[in-house]
Amino acid sequence: MIEELTRIVGKENVLSSETDLLLYGYDASLFKGRPDCIVLPGSTEEVSKIVKFAHRSGIPIIGRGSGTNLSGGTVPTRGGIVLHFSRMNQILEIDIENERVVVEPGIFTLVLKNRLARYGFVYQPDPASEKVSTLGGNFGENSGGPHCLKYGVTTNHILGAEVVLSDGEVVQVGGKTLDNPGFDLTGILVGSEGTLGIATKLVLRIMPKPEAVKTMLAIYNTLEDAGRTVSGIIADGIVPATLEMLDRLTIKAVEESVHAGFPQDAEAVLLIELDGLKDGMERLAERIMEICRKNNVREVKAAKTEAERTQLWAGRKGAFGAISRLRPNYLVCDGTVPRTRLPEVLTKVMEVGKKYNLAIANVFHAGDGNLHPLILFDERNKEELRKVHSAGSEILKICADAGGTISGEHGIGTEKIKEMFFVFSPRDIAAMKKVKMAFDPENIYNPGKVLPEVEA
Ligand SMILES: Cc1cc2nc3c(=O)[nH]c(=O)nc-3n(C[C@H](O)[C@H](O)[C@H](O)COP(=O)(O)OP(=O)(O)OC[C@H]3O[C@@H](n4cnc5c(N)ncnc54)[C@H](O)[C@@H]3O)c2cc1C
Repeated sequence: MIEELTRIVGKENVLSSETDLLLYGYDASLFKGRPDCIVLPGSTEEVSKIVKFAHRSGIPIIGRGSGTNLSGGTVPTRGGIVLHFSRMNQILEIDIENERVVVEPGIFTLVLKNRLARYGFVYQPDPASEKVSTLGGNFGENSGGPHCLKYGVTTNHILGAEVVLSDGEVVQVGGKTLDNPGFDLTGILVGSEGTLGIATKLVLRIMPKPEAVKTMLAIYNTLEDAGRTVSGIIADGIVPATLEMLDRLTIKAVEESVHAGFPQDAEAVLLIELDGLKDGMERLAERIMEICRKNNVREVKAAKTEAERTQLWAGRKGAFGAISRLRPNYLVCDGTVPRTRLPEVLTKVMEVGKKYNLAIANVFHAGDGNLHPLILFDERNKEELRKVHSAGSEILKICADAGGTISGEHGIGTEKIKEMFFVFSPRDIAAMKKVKMAFDPENIYNPGKVLPEVEA
């Protein structure tokens, strides 16, 4: 295998030392595996040749961007070849007039955004991991982020892709135009977690930067009041760009590391951002403040300078990292519920923490009803680890039972396969397996991910 792959990409782009196999055996989830080797392709042609070889030989292929996914999507649970896209990281075209860009999959999300800022344009999806996550990984997970409340998630911004199928053939799905005829293969591929096809180019929608932005911090003495404010704002017909919530434990961790200016005695804070035309923005902000007041807000502060705004966002975007100061490990449960059910579901989530004697911190996309309870633990304590998996599964069941679902943006990967039955019937799963069979009958691409292999 190593000889064949070396012929395709050169010796320096095939990794197989013991250290490499350990490093590429995990991602940001709790799972671990071991690949047979890692390959760093430099072009679509090379990807195609690697996949043709793997297809002939029955070897699994695991596409990988930065390995920051939180559900075990890049863990090589059955060995195989990890295709790491760090060399395919170029912006191929910036078409401002048509508001499109074409990129390779290995480019970091924030690198694209920074380039677009020079033109006064923006690619909207903004996972908190954007400094290091890749657009290929965002494509694989259909990633979200704070601004996805107003602008939609990754699938609303990927219009087409060049894709290597599991037999190595290269096809083009979608394109620069909207509403392409035929089946919406782009829609099926976005969020398929590397199980259906490997993207080697992506066509993205970009937008002009909004004229004005207003960022506010609302401080609460109870989680319920913060939750009710979220429903109140949306029910009033206002769609802010972001509506993010952090609870007391998260605020403590953030303040100890990032010093964002969140009061440590608050039970919850909401980070609310408006963007759009300057005209009318102050009136909208006043309406939001009024809704906050009706829901017993302690204080609402608006960022007065860009530095203050950046500081508030540093607190939100650095929250997952900051949590690591409290315990060595955490499990993020990425459930979604109808936002009117947020206060009640949050109470039940905290009861799960008490039942298992595990601390839970909350930092999440409240406007989308997308919860992220972070269960804190130490993986060296095997009993605690077992409890964490049970608690995580119970939290997802609570979300499903509240009319929600088991993933808002982090995917299913290895972690949530058995929970798929919380939201899908065996028939639903069988229909999805037919799609998998059509794209990848030999089960080469990321085997053992997303779809349960056993019955409910
Ligand atoms: C601190 C932190 C904060 C986070 N915040 C958010 C957030 O706000 N919102 C959010 O949605 N996620 C978030 N995430 C999760 C993660 O960053 C996203 O899922 C991200 O999109 C993964 O990008 P990646 O490059 O690391 O992809 P990887 O983890 O390497 O891969 C993700 C999936 O995509 C597949 N894949 C990779 N490249 C390709 C390709 N070229 N073609 C087809 N499939 C491919 C992989 O096989 C895998 O299934 C966060 C993670 C961390 C650690």
